[in-house]
Amino acid sequence: MAQDCIFCKIVSGEVPSDTVYEDEELFVFKDINPQASVHLLVIPKKHISSLADVTEEDYGLLGRMMGMAHLFAAKAGSTNGFRSIVNTGKVGRQDVFHLHVHVLGGEAPLPPMIYRNS
Ligand code: AMP
Ligand code: ZN
Repeated sequence: MAQDCIFCKIVSGEVPSDTVYEDEELFVFKDINPQASVHLLVIPKKHISSLADVTEEDYGLLGRMMGMAHLFAAKAGSTNGFRSIVNTGKVGRQDVFHLHVHVLGGEAPLPPMIYRNS
C-alpha cells in the first residue's frame, strides 16, 4: 500500500467506494464522476503507479484486468460492448497514480471519443 494513494485507501476500506467486484488481486468499483451510464474502474490491489511502471511480473495481472473487463461491463448493464481506457502519465492526463482501467459503456453507443468536462 502506498501512503496517500486514494485507490490504496479504497482497497483497504479506509475510503468508501461503490464496489462491484473483488478477488485476491483485483478490485472494481464505480467511478465517482461517471462519464457514461456505466463507468467502472478496474484496479490491481497491489500499488502500481501507472502503465509505465509495470514490470514483467505484472503481465499476468494486467491480463486479468483486461481479460475480465467484459464480465464487469456486462454485469453493470453494458451488454453490447464497452470502451476501456488507461490514461498514463502527464501526456495521458492521468490524475490518480494507481493503475486503473476505465470501463465505460451503457445501452447507447458512446461518443466517438470521451472528452472530459473538466
Ligand atoms: P485518471 O484521470 O485516468 O487518473 O482517472 C481517475 C478517475 O478516478 C477519475 O475518473 C475520477 O472520477 C476517479 N476517482 C477519483 N477519486 C475517486 C473515488 N474516491 N472514488 C471513485 N472514483 C474516483
Ligand atoms: Zn495505490
